[in-house]
This record gives sequence, C-alpha cells and structure tokens, in this order.
Amino acid sequence: MINSSKKYIPVIGLEIHTELKTNSKMFCGCKNDSQEKEANLNICPVCMGHPGTLPVINKTAIRFVIKTGIALNCKITKESRFERKNYFYPDLPKGYQISQYKEPFCFNGFLKINNKKIRIRRVHLEEDTARLIHSKNGYSLIDFNRAGIPLMELVTEPDIESSKEASDFAKKLQLILRYLNVSSADMEKGQLRVEANISLINANFKAKNAKLGTKVEIKNLNSFRAVERAIEYEIERQKELLLNDERVAQETRGWDPQSERTFPQREKEEAHDYRYFPEPDLPQIYIKKDYLEAIKKGIPELPDQKIKRLKEEFFVNEQSAQILVSNRDLSEYFEKSASELLRWSKDKRLDQKSQKELIQSAANYLLTDLLGCLSGKEFSEKDFPITPENFGEFIALVRDKKFTSKMAKILLGEMFDSGQDPSTIIKKRGLIQTDNEDEIKKIVQKIISSNPRAFEDYKKGKENALQFMIGQMMKETKGTINPQMAKKALIDFLK
Ligand code: ADP
Ligand code: MG
Ligand code: ZN
Repeated sequence: MINSSKKYIPVIGLEIHTELKTNSKMFCGCKNDSQEKEANLNICPVCMGHPGTLPVINKTAIRFVIKTGIALNCKITKESRFERKNYFYPDLPKGYQISQYKEPFCFNGFLKINNKKIRIRRVHLEEDTARLIHSKNGYSLIDFNRAGIPLMELVTEPDIESSKEASDFAKKLQLILRYLNVSSADMEKGQLRVEANISLINANFKAKNAKLGTKVEIKNLNSFRAVERAIEYEIERQKELLLNDERVAQETRGWDPQSERTFPQREKEEAHDYRYFPEPDLPQIYIKKDYLEAIKKGIPELPDQKIKRLKEEFFVNEQSAQILVSNRDLSEYFEKSASELLRWSKDKRLDQKSQKELIQSAANYLLTDLLGCLSGKEFSEKDFPITPENFGEFIALVRDKKFTSKMAKILLGEMFDSGQDPSTIIKKRGLIQTDNEDEIKKIVQKIISSNPRAFEDYKKGKENALQFMIGQMMKETKGTINPQMAKKALIDFLK
C-alpha cells in the first residue's frame, strides 16, 4: 500500500573528474591531448604499461591539484603518496591505476553555492584510462591516447539537496578551474565528468548524524543538463520504490540521454576489492611551506571576489556581474573598457551619477549588442575585432554627441565588421550628429528642393506628404536621425 504521508528529502554527493591541462601525461613524456583524432598516437612503453618501465611524476599536475585545493578552501597535506588501485579492464593497460587513496593532496574544503557551504571531502590526483570504442559489429577498439592523462578527482560530502544545486556546483567548479587555468573543463569533450550519488531520507528523520539511505551512483554525466535530468529521474525512481515499501538496491547506474532514464550497470564494489597499496615505483612526496606559499601567490582573483569588486568599483548590478564573470575574458574586457571610461569621465569632471550611468551603458552595450554580434559564440578577447579602448571611446561618444540609439547600433556594427575606431567610421561614413542643427537644416533643404511635388502637396494640407519627407530624411541620414527630430526640423523649416 502506498503511504503518501511520507516526505523524502534528496541527499546528493558528487564525484567529479577533471582532465588537467598539462603539456605531458601524468607519468611519462607523452603529449597530453585527449582530443587527438588519430588513435594511439601519443603512447609510449610507460603509459602502455610495458614490463620494466618506470613512471616519473609530472610536477605540474601536483601543482594544479594543490592550486585547486587552495581555491576550494581545502587543507593541504604535508606528506603524501600515490597508491595502486588494482582492477582488470581493457582500458587499463597496467592492470592497475595509479591513484591516491589514504593521503589525498587536499581535504576538508568547501564551495559556497547560493550562500550554502557544500563540503568537499577530498581532491586527489590519478591517471585517466584509455578510451573504448564499442563497435556494433561485436568487437571493441581501444584508443590509448587518453591513458595516463593527469586526472583530478574531487569528492563532495553528501550536502547537496537538489538537482539544481548539483548542477550549480558543477558549473561553479568549472568556472573556478578555468580561472585557475588548470583545465579547459569542457564537459562535451570529457574534460569534466560528473558522477552523482543519490539517496533519499525521510523528512521526519532528518537530523544531524541521521543514518542516510542506500545510495545509487550514476555514471557518465557529460553535460549540465544530464546532471540535472539524471538526478531528477533518480529521485522519482527511488521515491516510488520507498513509497511502495520496496528497497533501493545499492548499485551503479548509467544515464541514457535519449530515453532520459537511468539503467543498472553493476553492483557496488568495495574499496578492499581494489587491494590498494602504496605505489612502490614512486617516492613519498613532501609538501613544503614555501612551495605552498608560492602556489597561493599564483592564484588569481576568483569569480565570487570578482563579482563583489565589479559591483563596488564599477557599479554593475548583480545580474550583469554574474554574466560578465561567467567568462574570464569577457570580465577582463569589460574592466579595461570601464577603466578607460572612468579616466575619461574624470578628465571631463563628470559627477558620480554620470560616471555610473556611463559604465552601466557600457555593460548594457557589451552584454546585449556586442554579445549579440557573436551570435552565440563564446567571447574571446583575442578573436574580438573591437579593442576595449575603442569600445570605451564609443560609449563616451554616444554620450557626448547624443547619438540616437539607431545610430549607435550602426556605428557599433561597423566597428565590429571593420575593427576600426569609432571616430574614423564617423568621418568615413559621414554619420551626422543629431544635435548639429546646421547639418540638419542642410539636409532639410536638400530634401525639399529634390521633392518639389511633396512640398506643394504639404502646403495644400496633405499630411502624408510630410510623412513622405520624413521618410526621405531618414533615408538620407541612413536612419541616424530619429523621426521626431526629422519632423520637427521639417515643420520648423516649412513655417
Ligand atoms: P563509496 O565508498 O561507495 O565510494 P563514499 O562514502 O566514498 O562511498 O562516497 C562517495 C560519494 O557518495 C561522496 O560524494 C559522498 O558524499 C556520497 N555519498 C555517500 N553516502 C551517500 C548517501 N547515503 N547518499 C547520497 N550520497 C552519498
Ligand atoms: Mg568512491
Ligand atoms: Zn606515454
């Protein structure tokens, strides 16, 4: 019988693997390129696990893991080592994976998601496995290019309570990894891979240290959408079992993005099945204080701090700050243009209110018109045709010359297409300024002398003759004068 008075709260913990952006692999000199198209190109006897070969530690990979650990508020171990995780599978040439077990480099950290602390249990270093390609004809192929690529694993405590919170965690982690420049963290390319552990707990029994329910682990989540959908599906599946007084089996499940369902893969193995033991071919690692200090110095301003600063220094609102910071390049571009504008407005002795408006106008043009020009492509400053200086100049000109928004858009579009600075384009295109009365008068005269019929009709009181002449004015000025202004100029003149 279904007992629908029971309410369940989701309990979720994530395990996230990240491919680190080092030049070479974790324990040999092979090129680290998981996107290499030619199979089995970047391989050598070490990463192929030939007998008699010896691994050599990639120091950059360790630095990247520790850098990440510090950014995620972790404690960093003083002493550590690698261990062998033994299991047999064709994607594992040595028959074991070199990983960390008892002594991860980083532990007891946290990441704040919407002001809630999600505790991070550990961040450790291991090596990636080969890629298996399953053919429909009953055989499988193995590409070892990926085998031995440095892989960082992060494990959270089961502090996450919803699918949205889980994907927010993964998104924020991705952004931090990119700011730290330790990984490209592209989920579609398999550089960031999420596994979600899910169980339900009866809301009435939820208390500190309450015993958690049986968890299910979902593998192969390779998009943020998959993270959300898979967790939602699994919450519903488990709820239904529990409401029917059935047991949730502890197992690993896969995610099928087509049918949007999880499916059973295997029963859970225990740590002792892997027979972990210290890797005898690698030395003990000691992490010194000055080494840690040096890494700390290399950590850039992170997204949360940057949002705060953009709000304080440049008067940007929360939502704009969030979007700007979601791409490091974009936020840096904005800062350069905004600094330019601040300098300009100080020269002009603008008051604080005007400065604020100027910079908000820059944020608006950047986030709507300029990102619009990219039609969905990621912003990257080195591929972007408008320099931050020219963009700053544009914003200043728009304010100074009181351009119509139509004209501003034309100007910005031309800057984007040609990469030229705004003053050059204004000169070349003969774009007029709408506050230049002499200029407007000249155009009115031109329109009237080349359309005598319309002029006569207007004098006879035909209203649409005026509309026609306004249209001609717009055409003549390539839309850079606004209709009200054209109308006013015409009527003034005709009087
Ligand atoms: P295992 O030994 O099965 O790997 P761990 O205790 O190491 O399990 O935890 C692995 C992940 O599962 C962690 O992210 C942890 O937060 C999460 N987790 C542990 N227990 C539960 C549970 N009952 N419900 C949901 N997630 C859990
Ligand atoms: Mg585990
Ligand atoms: Zn190799």
